Amino acid sequence: MKKFINNKIIVAFLVMALVLPFVTFSFTGCEERVEVLKIFNSGEYIADGSEGSEDVVASFESWYKEKTGKNIRVEYSVFDTNETMYTQVNNKHADYDLVCPSDYMVQKMLNNDLLLPIGGEDFDEIWADAFSDEDPLDYGLDEDDEITVDAIMNENLMPLLTAYDPGWETGEFYSVPYMWGTFGILYDIEKIKAIGGEDAEEDMQSWEAIFGDKYKGHIYMKNSVRDAYAVANIYNSSDELARLSENFTNFGDAYHEKLSDCMNYPNENTIDAAEKTLKAQKKNLFAYESDEGKEDLLTGKSDAALSFVWSCDAGYVIGMEENLNLRYSVPKEGTNVWVDNWCIPKYAGNVTAAKYFIAFCNLYNTAYENMWFVGTTVPVRAVAEDISIEIVDPWSAVGEGEELEDYLCFAELFEEYADECDEDETCECEWHKYARMYSECLFPSDETLERAAVMTDFDKYNTDIVRMFIRVKAS
Ligand SMILES: [Zn+2]
Repeated sequence: MKKFINNKIIVAFLVMALVLPFVTFSFTGCEERVEVLKIFNSGEYIADGSEGSEDVVASFESWYKEKTGKNIRVEYSVFDTNETMYTQVNNKHADYDLVCPSDYMVQKMLNNDLLLPIGGEDFDEIWADAFSDEDPLDYGLDEDDEITVDAIMNENLMPLLTAYDPGWETGEFYSVPYMWGTFGILYDIEKIKAIGGEDAEEDMQSWEAIFGDKYKGHIYMKNSVRDAYAVANIYNSSDELARLSENFTNFGDAYHEKLSDCMNYPNENTIDAAEKTLKAQKKNLFAYESDEGKEDLLTGKSDAALSFVWSCDAGYVIGMEENLNLRYSVPKEGTNVWVDNWCIPKYAGNVTAAKYFIAFCNLYNTAYENMWFVGTTVPVRAVAEDISIEIVDPWSAVGEGEELEDYLCFAELFEEYADECDEDETCECEWHKYARMYSECLFPSDETLERAAVMTDFDKYNTDIVRMFIRVKAS
């Protein structure tokens, strides 16, 4: 097992994040298209060799040569939003070999015939070649097991994918998950206790925290139409969701269907109801935010005490270890599981190399490097579980010639509670409780996945919902 990168160092790099797309060109006159792989991904979304991480793209180039005997040069560029990427492919017929859209955008691209199939015999052969030197035991499989795509992925995540890519039911899929997470509430425990008293932490277990009056003036809301619509509808359906899940204890098909309905099947009534809820909420907000909410909570300088966030953003600021009062919760009523996926667009020029790259991302080592670097979870279950164990039981991860400090998160907090800690993952010391919360934020448990649904494209209601959100913001 390798050492993970110190998150503080990653952060220093992330601060320099580029906003505008960049492309690394190096034209060599006689280079053939089969020797180039064009990748279009979100910014800061792959380990890039900075500060002790592995340069995954460079590793792929040499690995591809080893596997196939052919040269490959990766042209890697980044987009800011799914919609920017969509325009490049749909309007400009850009010849990217790989793009990384979110769930709903995969569906939109599928509906508009912009994707090439991935799953099938050809992919199986490439996958088998890619994994031929891997040890099944590293993936939690038996020695003689075949390392297939289905075998190594999180089995509770996989059924959710069919909502936007039905090909996962038949093996003829058009997308392969790359990163995933939840949405929830990021809060500063000292600040919410000062406002909400003893019940404050319990309050964060319900969406009432961001829609009710109790934390008025201290709430950040994400300036994102899709997320705002979804969470407002979950809140509006709280009573029914409670009834369908025996008060959030038993989550069956009826509950899941309702939860998915809340996010994905708008009609005039649900749009009206969401508008009322969001307008009422606006009066209680500290502010809408696009990216600054988590930074504000980190420094603690404003009156904001809680923020509606994606788990990746929560994991990012908690991992900075600068404000140990930060916590992340996934309210009981239910959450969205967002999934970003590798897809091969219609105008791709090097499908074979694209499929090799997809397989490469799922190799243990690559997934491990990417998960630590990006600070969100990969679909390869064994990798995510191993990292979770490293966080809550760093003692088990220390190898020969290594130090506990190489693995210990929140070292400052640990020092404070070292005397009370029995260095076991079931320990109830404050350091362990914090480490478990962080681990759960990075890698949502099966219990959390039980009350989650993915988002699909709003299709013909897109415009209505966008207009509704504009009215809310102007109110
Ligand atoms: Zn402990």
